[in-house]
Amino acid sequence: MKSPDIFQATREKFTLPEGVLYLDGNSLGPLVKAVPGRVAQMLEGEWGRYLIGGWNLAGWVDMPARVGDRVARLIGAAPGTVVMGDTLSIKVYQALASALALRPDRRVILSDRNNFPTDLYMAQGLIASLDKGHELKVAAPEAVADLIDESVAVVMLTEVDYRTGRLYDMAQITAKAHAVGALVIWDLAHSAGAIAVDLAGTDADFAVGCTYKYLNGGPGAPAFIYVAPRLADLARPALSGWFGHAAPFAFEPDYRPALGIERMRVGTPPVLALGTLDAALDVWDGISMADIRARSIELSEAFIATVEAGCPDLELASPRDPQARGSQVSYLFEDGYAVIQALIDEGVIGDYRAPGIMRFGFTPLYLSHEDVQRAAAILVDIITSRRWDQDRYKIKGKVT
Ligand SMILES: *Cc1c(COP(=O)(O)O)cnc(C)c1O
Repeated sequence: MKSPDIFQATREKFTLPEGVLYLDGNSLGPLVKAVPGRVAQMLEGEWGRYLIGGWNLAGWVDMPARVGDRVARLIGAAPGTVVMGDTLSIKVYQALASALALRPDRRVILSDRNNFPTDLYMAQGLIASLDKGHELKVAAPEAVADLIDESVAVVMLTEVDYRTGRLYDMAQITAKAHAVGALVIWDLAHSAGAIAVDLAGTDADFAVGCTYKYLNGGPGAPAFIYVAPRLADLARPALSGWFGHAAPFAFEPDYRPALGIERMRVGTPPVLALGTLDAALDVWDGISMADIRARSIELSEAFIATVEAGCPDLELASPRDPQARGSQVSYLFEDGYAVIQALIDEGVIGDYRAPGIMRFGFTPLYLSHEDVQRAAAILVDIITSRRWDQDRYKIKGKVT
């Protein structure tokens, strides 16, 4: 049974090149049609007209919180608990530094050895800077929960694994961490706009994420950070920039953190990028994450069924149970890179993540059942005909 097509209208709000089936919105969402006009208006109608006055007259100064409230709705967070800015790597660092400071007697950061590398790298850099003997302990995803004990200061996990789409049980891990006095940081890079997230309901401590994937904010779009209201005035900002100060324009010599989530701001906000994201978020008005999730599961199940029928030996790298994976499906194939290049050549855009993972993202806002069936059929055809096995499909670019 297909759910009714509430997504017909959203599909028309995206610009996608003719003939392209885009299954890579999990890496970079496509352009929302309303964005260029909105950005042009910001450039000429705000910057061009108001000059420095735009900070007040066009409300630029409040954009990180205002746009943060729009993202908050999509991740089950209350208004006033999310703020935008910087990159996700920076937001990981901030959340981790604040969390460690809240657990001064503990030394272990527990994570997943398959976590996205930048999350682990930022932890390693922070540990070195602090020089207090912290340890980054990583484990296989199935083993993480059992390692949560009184030594752990922070459990730092990405809810949806970027390679396999494997999904953590946020409520269960968070409860387990809290039971032993540990804090939890959830990276929602592959969750925000992809699956229903309930930060408030699961009582998460910190969350971070990017907006250029499922939220379609554009290349380099600003990241977000969430701090639970009960911690927001206790969390000490490690990156104590002037925009997170209680009174930035008092120009005091000493840092005093702002109240609440505003303290997680650092420097001057990326106004144009926030405007791009703000316009892109209009697409979500009236859309519930429950509807997105239901359709995403239909699409991914249909994709798997078609691929499995045509290529029964192709190894699914994602959990079989749709409830146990995010909004992507991955296959393990040694020459996956060449297969993806051949697919792109034939208008189906997915991506490749070393080693051997072919990834396909499912984004109901702009992908229909027909699109997904067609993409799956082309994948099957490329693999069964071995059309991928050509030298030109094996040349790697700087970004894969
Ligand atoms: C995409 C992604 C990032 C990217 O971080 P940037 O600082 O935005 O480059 C980080 N962590 C995870 C889990 C991701 O999926």
